[in-house]
Amino acid sequence: MACENRTTCPYCGVGCGVIASVDDAGTVTVRGDPEHPANFGRLCSKGSALAETLDLDGRLLFPQINGQRSSWDAALDLVAERFSDTIAEHGPDSVAFYVSGQLLTEDYYVANKLMKGFIGSGNIDTNSRLCMASSVAGHRRAFGSDTVPGTYADLELADLVVLVGSNLAWCHPVLYQRIAAAKASRPTMKVVVVDPRRTATSDIADLHLAVRPDGDVALFNGLLAHLAETNRIDEAFVGSHTSGLAEALIAASPLSMAALSEATGLSGLSIRQFFWLFADTERVVTCYSQGVNQSASGTDKVNAIINCHLATGRIGRSGMGPFSLTGQPNAMGGREVGGLANMLAAHMAIENADDRDRVQRFWKSPRIADRPGLKAVDMFDAVADGRIKALWIMSTNPVVSMPDADKVKAAIDACPFVVVSDMQGDTDTGRLAHVLLPATGWGEKSGTVTNSERRVSRQRAFLSGPGEARPDWWHITEVARRIGFASAFDFASPADIFAEHAALSAFENDGSRDFDIGAFAAIDEDQYDDLRPFHWPRPATGEMSDRFFSDGRFYHPDGKARFIPVATVPVSEQAGFILNTGRVRDHWHTMTRTGKSARLSAHMAEPYCEIHLLDAADHGVGHADLVRITGQSGGEVIVRALLSDRQARGSLFLPMHWSDETASAARVDTLVPSLTDPVSGQPALKQARVSLERYSAG
Ligand code: SF4
Repeated sequence: MACENRTTCPYCGVGCGVIASVDDAGTVTVRGDPEHPANFGRLCSKGSALAETLDLDGRLLFPQINGQRSSWDAALDLVAERFSDTIAEHGPDSVAFYVSGQLLTEDYYVANKLMKGFIGSGNIDTNSRLCMASSVAGHRRAFGSDTVPGTYADLELADLVVLVGSNLAWCHPVLYQRIAAAKASRPTMKVVVVDPRRTATSDIADLHLAVRPDGDVALFNGLLAHLAETNRIDEAFVGSHTSGLAEALIAASPLSMAALSEATGLSGLSIRQFFWLFADTERVVTCYSQGVNQSASGTDKVNAIINCHLATGRIGRSGMGPFSLTGQPNAMGGREVGGLANMLAAHMAIENADDRDRVQRFWKSPRIADRPGLKAVDMFDAVADGRIKALWIMSTNPVVSMPDADKVKAAIDACPFVVVSDMQGDTDTGRLAHVLLPATGWGEKSGTVTNSERRVSRQRAFLSGPGEARPDWWHITEVARRIGFASAFDFASPADIFAEHAALSAFENDGSRDFDIGAFAAIDEDQYDDLRPFHWPRPATGEMSDRFFSDGRFYHPDGKARFIPVATVPVSEQAGFILNTGRVRDHWHTMTRTGKSARLSAHMAEPYCEIHLLDAADHGVGHADLVRITGQSGGEVIVRALLSDRQARGSLFLPMHWSDETASAARVDTLVPSLTDPVSGQPALKQARVSLERYSAG
């Protein structure tokens, strides 16, 4: 008799519900949960193969100190001692946590509480900085809060879906399936894809705009100017609920069509088609993802998009709105508990003295970080120059995923004390750790995650953790107790942590903060076990709509949304190719899980470089030839060439998944400099300049 467990997929931000069944022989099978509102029973290739990724090959089973097996007590004592000594000698800002959108919300909550409230530093940042920090910053500038206004259902109700910098078909496949199904049943629905590459997502596009890599601001500034020129501004909405349109229009000062074509790389005809479609369609959703966020102007791109929705009043209503898609399974949950260096818990702001006071009183903590900590790129710079002397990396692999990856590797290698907690120990990052802490993984741990549409779902354990692996929240609370904060970290279970998180979200919230799940502040173990997926907010008193901003009220002090004037990025012609990095359909991050499935690995068996046919011809490169790609700061990748006409001229695409561990010379982020967006601190992972040559081993 198989035992069924309702849980949530651990891969992308769609957050699909999964039913995992374990039979008497211990065999696991998975299927989509027909009752989960994110997927209604669908799963993509990665989700369907989850049961194939549960073997113990490569798992870290015991704590290790300097490569030798140790007891938990010895490892935890050492971590607590080294962090305490470092803080005592060099101050709280000499230590840091680098965490992950793979963590569950409860893990994130206690890590953030320890660093910001008890150690007293803001130095906790997350690999979600690489994924959606520009959207967070754009939301806060426009709305006064980090609020995603809409829901997945809006994508099916829209008459026009604009997908910007998003290969949804590969990166959020079930959401793509939902849009494709809606379009098939309602042929009047239109889809526009704005992407330099012609990806699998373009297959359902009525219009594909192969925009220049940094042409998005020009395109949406042009759209804003067009809306004004053609009297499509919703004057009533703008007048009552927004400020700053005049300044935004000055910044978007109309370019001639020739200049707009130059700035965007698009024909005048395709630009006009897009402008007319947007202007003439009331129910428009604009989704954006890493092609927008991972840019030196990512926050401006986000605000250029939001500006167009504010100008037309197309926000807070069914089937319309700007919609940022998170990459990771719990990027949103991390935001909720303050997992970013510049945020406090429950969407409160670290720069705000009232928020700091409120959180400190709630936690009864001896101190509270009084300024933002170091964002990911700056954090590893501080490791490199010795300002950070003790670093704890949780559930992520920065030696592969950070820009300027060789520099990050050298920095971690030279850091006096490095702790890595992960499911696998023998990773590019794990090999540099002084202490390795074995973590339980999907199917073995319990907690919650929040998907891109603000829906909180349970992950449930249905397998025992292997060896001595323990959940991340337990690692953190045990270290906190040993440092001397036992009473504040006296959590017996994830349910305990979730209840405290919910209580904090409601603490002295008079409605001025968007994130409130106070309805769960007294949740007990049984209720937590039974928790069904829900959208936040869920305040303790009064039901709230699933949809934010339906009353035209935003979270700036005056209750209005702000137009943000954004400058069009000037076109710069530089030598070499522009390198775009991203995902393939069937792998996830550094493949520690998906690499175990032969079925998934068969889709793309090795790393590759996609090159336009004509560029390849210019460089004497044939299909499947080896090519060497060299970064401006010296990194080098050697992979096979994949020739296509889907790639824009002058640009290359490299998948991000492979590492030194899984292929030689394939760590793409060794090619990417640590250029960041000045507002969000998000690295520009899609803008490196590289050179290309045919490679001959001889
Ligand atoms: Fe998992 Fe995302 Fe696929 Fe859903 S779409 S099954 S969340 S990887």
